[in-house]
Parts: sequence; structure tokens; C-alpha cells
Amino acid sequence: MSRNAESPGRHPAARCGRFAPSPTGPLHFGSLVAAVGSYLDARASAGNWLLRIEDIDRQRTAPGAADAILRTLAGLAFEWDGEILYQSRRRDAYRAALSQLRDNGDIYPCACSRREIAARAPAVGVDGAPVYPGTCRSGLPHGRDARSWRMLAPDEEIVFDDRVQGTQRQDVAAAVGDFVLLRADGEFAYQLAVMVDDAAQGVNSVVRGADLLDSTPRQIWLARRLRLPVPTYAHLPLVSNAAGEKLSKQTRAQAIDATIGSPLLAAALEFLGHVVPADLRHAPLPEFWRWAIANWSITRVPARRSATLGHRLPP
Ligand code: GLU
Repeated sequence: MSRNAESPGRHPAARCGRFAPSPTGPLHFGSLVAAVGSYLDARASAGNWLLRIEDIDRQRTAPGAADAILRTLAGLAFEWDGEILYQSRRRDAYRAALSQLRDNGDIYPCACSRREIAARAPAVGVDGAPVYPGTCRSGLPHGRDARSWRMLAPDEEIVFDDRVQGTQRQDVAAAVGDFVLLRADGEFAYQLAVMVDDAAQGVNSVVRGADLLDSTPRQIWLARRLRLPVPTYAHLPLVSNAAGEKLSKQTRAQAIDATIGSPLLAAALEFLGHVVPADLRHAPLPEFWRWAIANWSITRVPARRSATLGHRLPP
């Protein structure tokens, strides 16, 4: 449910947070944890919480998934502020950012295919893909056309303080190399879209799953080059199944049943290190949320990249 964008009594230090699901399938428990963490962290500071549907990747977007996610969030009585942003409607903004980077000399066209990169890559990077060897950095090879556009990796290490995981540092050049912003299929890359949109929505506090921890230095670098504000970051542990795999569509994570209500939210909050009193576990949703907002503390969230669920989910 959307609440009025202008709520009286906003605190000046209020965080503006967001939840930005990719509509590749219905909401599962892993994404619920990110929704709960970002929601409570924003609301506990009397801040706003925004929604963004990250449907930029046409191939991965599942028909009906965005609406199903929104219905589930509404069914669990999450209240978001303002309009929902759809990345599929934001291509002009991404194009403008890309031309700004081109004018700065930060990006270059690249002709390499995946196979060519794999054959020359010095190593496998943090994403599990080959580190780009820089083949097209000084110009396209003779007679070849551009397939994609790449961002020059910074010369310096990127360092940031994650509110959950502590100080993080990454040498982007060694970890991924020059990275793609405009893909060979003509789509803008997630890394670009996320920074342009966080800035456009006024997001100053990102709380999300630790699968994106390794992407954050690239995003900070992009923000710096685009002269956009850099939000604070908090990366929550990922929920993994008994086999140690991250819950996702690929591992056939179950869709959430919003009619379960508070017991499900309590399970998400307990995963995030909070002890939920027994009487609240079955409380009506408004009562549950009131308690959770008043009792949220990000310092309780375990500083781990992933964790298995210690108990079974409510049926
Ligand atoms: N759309 C991404 C996902 O669903 C999240 C992006 C973000 O929070 O920055 O995994």
C-alpha cells in the first residue's frame, strides 16, 4: 500500500531507503529478508521507503512477477512512499548518464565476445566471470564493430564502510576489470541503472542482500564519475538453503504466502538477529510492524555474507 509522500514530522537525519526487486519470479523468503531489513531501517529513522521494480533486463523479467511482488508486499502491510519507479521506463535517464560518461572519457566501445574475453582473461573475477583483459581500451581492433560499452576501472582501491559487514575494499581493476555499462543486446547494465535511479529517487541509504557487496565498489566509482551522491550501504546476510545455496529462482525458492502474515515477518526479523517476543509472532500486522520499527537495530544483524535458516519457515 502506498502512503502519502509528505508525512509530517520527518526527522532531518531520516534515511531514505528502498527495496528494488528484479521481477524474475515471485517474492521468496530471501527477498523478503531484504524487504524487511530495508523497511525497518528506513522507518526506524522516521525515513521514507521507496519501491523500484528493476525490470530493465527484458530476458529475465517474468510476466506478472512485478504485480505479484507488489501484491505480496501489500498483503504483508508494507507501506511505501510515493510512486513506484519502473526501470523499463527509465532508458532516457540511463542514456543521458552514459553520454555524460562518454564526454568525460570514462567509457569506451568494446568489440570482444565472451569467448574472446575468456581466452585472454588473466583470471576469474569476483562475479565468477573472466576479468576483462582490456583488449579494446586503446581502440577497437581494425575492422571490428562495438558490441558493448565499458567503464574504465579506477586506478585506486575503492574503500567503504558497510554498516553490517564493516570496512570493505576492492581493487575493481583486479576484481572485474573495465565493466560493461551498455550490453551487447542493447540493454543498460544493472550497475548503471541502480546508481542513476538511487540518485533520482533521493535514496541515501541502501540496505540489500550481500550478493551485491562485490558490486558496490563499481557503483561507488560510477557515482563519483557521474558526480552523484554516494548512499550509505548495509549488506544483509543472504538466506541459503540446507545445501548452502542462496535462495533464488534458480534454486527453486518457494514463493511467499502473504496470508501467513506476522509469523513470516517474525522469521525474517529473527534471521536478521532480532528476538521476537512470542505474543508478537501472531499479532495483527499493524501491531507487529509497530513493535518491529520501535525495536529495530542494525547492530544486531550478523556480519556474515550468508546464513542458513536456523528453523523451519512457518507453514
Ligand atoms: N534488483 C536487485 C535484485 O533483485 C537488487 C538491486 C539492489 O538492491 O541494488 O537482486
